[in-house]
Amino acid sequence: MSGQKSPKLATTNTSSTSEKTQSAFTFVFDIDGVLLENKKALPGAKEAIKMLLGRKIPFVFLTNSGGMPEFRHTTLLAQRLGIPGLLSEHQLVQSHTPFKGLLERFADKNILALGMNSEKTPLWEKHTNGADLNPAIVRYGKPSETTFAWGERALHEWHTELNPQNAPPIRTIYMIGDDVNCDVYGAKNFKSRYDSEWKTILVETGVHEKGTKPEHEPDHIVPGVKEAVELVLNLEMQNDEPA
Ligand SMILES: [Mg+2]
Repeated sequence: MSGQKSPKLATTNTSSTSEKTQSAFTFVFDIDGVLLENKKALPGAKEAIKMLLGRKIPFVFLTNSGGMPEFRHTTLLAQRLGIPGLLSEHQLVQSHTPFKGLLERFADKNILALGMNSEKTPLWEKHTNGADLNPAIVRYGKPSETTFAWGERALHEWHTELNPQNAPPIRTIYMIGDDVNCDVYGAKNFKSRYDSEWKTILVETGVHEKGTKPEHEPDHIVPGVKEAVELVLNLEMQNDEPA
């Protein structure tokens, strides 16, 4: 870990009403097909993230990509979104981030990390004389439960970092994704460790084909990430109105 400081956040309203609104709901974003396409910001991505930063609403990124340290990845992501310096590495869970949880257990062991769908590779055969790999296989990345558990924990820690004095329980977590099988399926089937409710919003800027019926039903389908954030802000504002 690089020990990067938390980024500066926009000044927010600190009235009790807005604090209640800010802390009761949160976001988890997929990156590719939601915020970026071919490493470029999708329309509305910057505005969507800025809406949350300005309101101090906690969010993290949960992505199946990886291949670089979290700090470098969030720095690049912030640059690509046009908000340099405004994201923290604490807000990112990549496919290999949960490996950190294995460090102690496997500190003195050899670990072979394989890409998606690898059952057995020539590399493994060569180094183990073809030992049975299956009992040792642990799958990471969405839609695995482990990855969602890491995402949820990162979100809670970030929420606490943003509200050190007063971090009430997170009522709702909105998963914004473009892939029904990873993002929607994973979030719908994940059982919260914190009694939060996971809700799913599918966007049409990525792999989901507009107009087709998704295999796993999300709570909402919207054109893009900005519409997703606006929808949630509207829903949550309604929730917050006195009866
Ligand atoms: Mg995606």
